[in-house]
Amino acid sequence: SHIPVITIDGPSGSGKGTISRLLADKLGWHLLDSGAIYRVLALAAIHHDFTPDNEESLVALAAHLDVKFVTEEDNALTHIILEGEDVTMTIRTEQVGNMASKVAALPRVREALLRRQRGFRELPGLIADGRDMGTVVFKDADAKIFLTASAEERARRRFEQLKGAGFDANIEQLINEIKERDDRDMNRSVAPLKPAEDALTVDSTAMPIAEVLEQVMTFAHSKL
Ligand code: C5P
Repeated sequence: SHIPVITIDGPSGSGKGTISRLLADKLGWHLLDSGAIYRVLALAAIHHDFTPDNEESLVALAAHLDVKFVTEEDNALTHIILEGEDVTMTIRTEQVGNMASKVAALPRVREALLRRQRGFRELPGLIADGRDMGTVVFKDADAKIFLTASAEERARRRFEQLKGAGFDANIEQLINEIKERDDRDMNRSVAPLKPAEDALTVDSTAMPIAEVLEQVMTFAHSKL
């Protein structure tokens, strides 16, 4: 039978991670954080001292990546396990994010991760969060959302997040890092970051999370 999918694509800091989790909780559906898969691959590559031009090695690494997603009983947190090691926190650094966007630009690496991502599509349904969920991985999705926000606002959110976690951060540097990663994600030859033709675009720059969720829910319901 048909397994429904809602895709949520957009740049980092647009709020798609938060919205995806809220939506998955509300509907009781599965959640795919595809960015986490690219981040795990990047971390494994860093561990192996591979650089982004070791394409052959990176493709092999992607094909055999030993990654598991283990969600806690109460749904509060999904642990990400790489070769038996909990890397939930270590994959979230800017260094890993940058490496992720470099390895993610390699067409054969993306190809090697396709089946793994599609494997998350299980009943009763899937919320898929990423850059190319609606344009490539789940082209036949029931509802596609493109969530965006200005680079300045996304940097501000990241700044608050880092401060809350007790880290020092520089807002100008964050804006530059965000713009650099967006640039790479939007201008690569395969699966560039862009809205699917049939996506609803939501700009969350000046919108509280509750309102973004409301708009996304209304759109999804009209499509399901
Ligand atoms: O979303 P997140 O910041 O965790 O993603 C890290 C990087 O992984 C992105 O900058 C992007 O280059 C890559 N990515 C991708 N396709 C996806 C999800 C993430 O290319 N579907």
